Amino acid sequence: MSLSPNPPDCTRCCVVGGGPAGMMLALLLARAGIPVTVLEKHGDFLRDFRGDTVHPSTLQILQELDLLEKFEQLPQRHERLLRGLIGGVEQPVVDFSGLRPFDYLALVPQWDFLNLLADAGRRYQTFDLRMRHKATGLIKEGGRVVGVRVESPEGNHDLRADLVVACDGRHSLMREAAGLHSKNYGAPMDVLWFRVPREAHDPQGTFGIADDGHLMILLNRNDYWQTAFVVPKGSDAALRAQPIDRLRDAVVRLAPFLSDRKDSIESWDAVSTLAVQVDRLACWHKPGLLLIGDAAHAMSPIGGVGINLAIQDAVAAANALAAPLREGRRIDESLLASLQRRRELPVRVVQRVQLAIQNRIISRALEADGGQPRIPWLLRLLLKFRVVRNRPARLFGYGLRQEHVRTPCMGQTGDGVAPGAHDHS
Ligand SMILES: Cc1cc2nc3c(=O)[nH]c(=O)nc-3n(C[C@H](O)[C@H](O)[C@H](O)COP(=O)(O)OP(=O)(O)OC[C@H]3O[C@@H](n4cnc5c(N)ncnc54)[C@H](O)[C@@H]3O)c2cc1C
Repeated sequence: MSLSPNPPDCTRCCVVGGGPAGMMLALLLARAGIPVTVLEKHGDFLRDFRGDTVHPSTLQILQELDLLEKFEQLPQRHERLLRGLIGGVEQPVVDFSGLRPFDYLALVPQWDFLNLLADAGRRYQTFDLRMRHKATGLIKEGGRVVGVRVESPEGNHDLRADLVVACDGRHSLMREAAGLHSKNYGAPMDVLWFRVPREAHDPQGTFGIADDGHLMILLNRNDYWQTAFVVPKGSDAALRAQPIDRLRDAVVRLAPFLSDRKDSIESWDAVSTLAVQVDRLACWHKPGLLLIGDAAHAMSPIGGVGINLAIQDAVAAANALAAPLREGRRIDESLLASLQRRRELPVRVVQRVQLAIQNRIISRALEADGGQPRIPWLLRLLLKFRVVRNRPARLFGYGLRQEHVRTPCMGQTGDGVAPGAHDHS
């Protein structure tokens, strides 16, 4: 198939959204020889404070795709042990050591990870990535989705497809256009993200601090701390109405070693708010349409699993859909339903654990009664054993029902950019 530099008017699979789910699905389908067009509304992948935690399940997929070596060349940090400083007491909580085949989680800028997937996709002739192309609606005929309406620098046009896969994130427009509704499971908190410079003499590793009605996670990014300051749900606007010093002082109360750098949080403009949501669609599909990743289930940031579940969804979707798509068979809704059944269980289990942590631990840690949070003695005792600390690492790191790449590699054209493989910015 030869792709034109002009927007196509039809494709086998249209993927809406070039996040982790969309880019991985497009790569796998193109690699299996299936014409796939990805529509990404932004001009690049550069957005700060997206999920940057790449867990073992994703490392395993990269290895199966022979991309692990390239991935390891990206700037990254490996974390084996995640600790908490709870009421002034240090406590190891999540421990990857001893897990096989990967005993760490990698912290990698998401844009580097997405560029890696895009570069890998460009090796296949059937891979068509359209940046600055926004899907604005669904085209429906006879009760079936048969394509999307697209807004692009070249103007508006329709793109018809045998299957549309919505990977357009937690505020999915395609979900709305399809009339699908998710159930919201609630969250007691939102997260303020900002950076603070890191000095060589700072503590090592990645850890959380809970004290005095506040909770903060410090992710070690070598030269800076990626900081997640957890606040009660809906308090963002009231906080932002106060001087930035209120936030600086709260940060220093939790982490006194940052006092010499608190002014690096220059203003509220340097602080991004993640409105935490945990939701899940009752039904992930309609005839001709599938939703995966955050579009189907927004995850709480607890455990940093968002990217990884999105990738697992994409691998499962490619495994199930590659053969019928390549053969030009109509994608039956029962196939989409079985895909949902396959992926819903791992998502549901992780969300249940996240909700328990939110409601039992985070809500209490955010209670502003000035009391010092304490770890129950039994839990403290149990966490002395690595096998206990391994359990959350295994659940968040590998997940349930781990997916593996089963799609064939058929579309490779050799080194470099394949003729006809386009990236339109
Ligand atoms: C501030 C923040 C911090 C986070 N931290 C973590 C973390 O530490 N670890 C972790 O694992 N997860 C984290 N997450 C969640 C994680 O980023 C997501 O779970 C993950 O990226 C989901 O992947 P996705 O591909 O389903 O959706 P997304 O990554 O949301 O990708 C959706 C893509 O679709 C594009 N798009 C949207 N609408 C359209 C449209 N109409 N047309 C074309 N393109 C469209 C968007 O531009 C985007 O590129 C965080 C999220 C946020 C917002």
